[in-house]
Amino acid sequence: MIRVMHIFFDVDQTLICQEGTLRPGVGELFSRLRADGHHLYVWSGNGMRWEVLDRYNLRHLVAGCFFKPLYNFRDAVERARLPVLPDACVDDSPEVVAAFGGVVVEPYGLPNPLDREMQRVYEALHRYWSE
Ligand SMILES: [Mg+2]
Repeated sequence: MIRVMHIFFDVDQTLICQEGTLRPGVGELFSRLRADGHHLYVWSGNGMRWEVLDRYNLRHLVAGCFFKPLYNFRDAVERARLPVLPDACVDDSPEVVAAFGGVVVEPYGLPNPLDREMQRVYEALHRYWSE
């Protein structure tokens, strides 16, 4: 069964490296997921990161930015009364993915033009929503 998902992306070391450069394939991944009908959100323990989305012209693909809780994830998300809850998360922190489901990515620490994690994420999410 195909279902529309609310997909929540972490920022640091998931979408951008420590220096702030964008991981290869992020724009393509966001565009493909939107074309598939999914709703994308970006959340970060460092607050709402619209500036990162603006820097890389990704804002138009993202429905919302939120503050990501750092622990007690499910309770904290309920307390925060977000307008939507994550159906799947993409995060370099396994704890976040353990709490909500989704895909754990290799931390993107340094710029690497050969990094292909975002293609793998698309395939993993595709399996996820086809289940
Ligand atoms: Mg992170």
